[in-house]
Amino acid sequence: MASIKEKIASLRDELQEHNYKYYVLDQPSITDYEFDMKLKELQKLEEEHPEFYDPTSPTLRVGGMVTKNFETVAHEHRMYSLENSYSKEDLEDWEKRIQRILGDVPVEFTCELKYDGASISLTYEDGKLVRAVTRGDGFQGDDVTTNIKTIRSVPLQLKGDYPPKFDIRGEIILTLEGFAKMNQERIEAGEDPYMNPRNTASGSLKLQDSALVAQRPLECLLYSIVGNNLGISSQFEMLEKARTWGFKVPTVAKLCKSTEEVMQFADYWDSHRHSMPFETDGVVVKVNSIQQQEELGYTAKSPRWAMAYKFKAEQATTILDKITYQVGRTGAITPVANLEPVLLAGTTVKRASLHNADQIAKLDVREGDTVFVEKGGEIIPKIVGVDFTKRPADSKPTEYITHCPECGTELIRKEGEAQHFCPNDTSCPTQITGRIQHFISRKAMDIEGMGSETVELLFKEGLIANYADLYTLTKEQVVPLERMAEKSAENLVNGVEASKAIPFERVLFALGIRYVGETVAKKLAKAYKNIDALMAASKEELVAVDEIGDRIAESVIAFFSEPTNLEIVNRLKSYGLQFSLSEEQLENQTDKLKGQTFVVSGVFETLSRDELKKLIEDNGGKVASSISSKTSFVVAGDNMGPSKKTKAESLGVPIISEQEFLQKLEA
Ligand code: AMP
Ligand code: ZN
Repeated sequence: MASIKEKIASLRDELQEHNYKYYVLDQPSITDYEFDMKLKELQKLEEEHPEFYDPTSPTLRVGGMVTKNFETVAHEHRMYSLENSYSKEDLEDWEKRIQRILGDVPVEFTCELKYDGASISLTYEDGKLVRAVTRGDGFQGDDVTTNIKTIRSVPLQLKGDYPPKFDIRGEIILTLEGFAKMNQERIEAGEDPYMNPRNTASGSLKLQDSALVAQRPLECLLYSIVGNNLGISSQFEMLEKARTWGFKVPTVAKLCKSTEEVMQFADYWDSHRHSMPFETDGVVVKVNSIQQQEELGYTAKSPRWAMAYKFKAEQATTILDKITYQVGRTGAITPVANLEPVLLAGTTVKRASLHNADQIAKLDVREGDTVFVEKGGEIIPKIVGVDFTKRPADSKPTEYITHCPECGTELIRKEGEAQHFCPNDTSCPTQITGRIQHFISRKAMDIEGMGSETVELLFKEGLIANYADLYTLTKEQVVPLERMAEKSAENLVNGVEASKAIPFERVLFALGIRYVGETVAKKLAKAYKNIDALMAASKEELVAVDEIGDRIAESVIAFFSEPTNLEIVNRLKSYGLQFSLSEEQLENQTDKLKGQTFVVSGVFETLSRDELKKLIEDNGGKVASSISSKTSFVVAGDNMGPSKKTKAESLGVPIISEQEFLQKLEA
């Protein structure tokens, strides 16, 4: 007789195979009843013999574990966004940009559908699922492993010839049928139906009770593998390999040799997308060769080698009741259309952006009009036109406001800018609170125990007039405020104190200098290392920093030439905030390559392409993506593109090897 251990192992194998046939291949070979009986048998054996526990057992599919707090974990490889395009011209421009970087070489593309759900990154080690993490901000996300294990199409144990360690990226979705069925059950149980599959799928990942997740018909569609030494040379091969290891990879993918073929694929799916069992909002086009992908690299947000092509957005018509105006933290005025609620692509829309005065004039949109509302990639829908046949007889053209709705100051409009501004940046209340709200936000100082409403309250009560004032708040001042208990006042003060450890680049971002977003703040912090050096920089010096243009440079200089800003920065310094890079960040950084620009091309022996780029930047050099007369050196590995070589030679740019580069650094 087989031992219990063997019996358990064989049941697990058998159930795993049936799962795969049912959920990945859609070809079940036994009845649901037979499956359930086998699963029950396994559950019973596992209960009786906890010593044979296995984190990849099919019994984990039913869930039951409860997660109170989802742990934040860093992605080993960053999860990027995709750039969007909306026309054939956009795609052609993209192809031209690619060819410019790669030179005159053939480029093939893999086209896939864009699955509309919640992105996920799965880590496999020795063929076992060890972790599942949401995208989060791309650098770190939430660990949702227990919930993901309940999704039947996610293999817990791989088959075939898989690499020892890798991450695979995909999208958690609800099929339209599954979604409809879920809603039917909710309605029957007297509950409100869910609005759309996408948000429901995304919300499911963060349910605390994994047994509830197990009941939802979620699926996981995979599209990309990342890791080292994967032995995969193209995107298309990657999809095929992932399938053989047991992943659910839609077979709609197509290898295309030209942008014409890409467009054919996109056109076909634009009109046939409703024949798919799940929602798709576009096509994702990727350069097929992994080597070419590496050569193309990434921008701050997305790969240069991929492009999302969005299908035409869905539209709705409704009535515009009123135009109101919002004041942002920089004083920028945004007109907002307040609409009669209308259902659009699964969500109820009540407000839409009107962008600026020109846009209102261009559309000739007026209060009382019937308007067309569209939802593109943005979260906030936009008005794309007016149904003039329905315009009321007494309608009057929209007169744009001339004075700030918050403080009454006359608005200004700078040469070449679309937006009106309230110039009263020192005492316009919304600007002040907006800046403080930005300062405390998660990606900036991340002050715990304080939210946007607290900021408004503290401001209203006269306790703070700028973000430096946060650091002198005392518990005694805060406790008497509305809705403030002893404990929350304490949390607030502690949160402020803790923020003093936030690193320099985030402090720089938190200051709220116009055009200095997260990425720019990082670049500036790295280039100048401390705030005094940054404050002393001239415009010419600033624009010499990679990716810093005139607009940003001027804004930085304007910010630091304002006496009130200087006073605030000096106060923050005196409170002990981080205004220079830490020792750790400074380590290994030199100025050895200062003023030199490098282009990296080919495959290298000892360093990865990213390591090489980091070395260049850490030593004060610049990395550019294409060769020009400004290039100081091309660092070439194996397989450098022939056209790049010709270009470098014709411009007289020296080509050096990896070894020569490393010697340069040591010198
Ligand atoms: P976005 O969130 O608009 O920047 O679009 C990027 C996201 O599209 C990625 O993070 C993925 O989650 C998702 N996506 C869906 N289908 C695909 C696909 N076939 N290839 C790459 N990304 C995809
Ligand atoms: Zn104002």
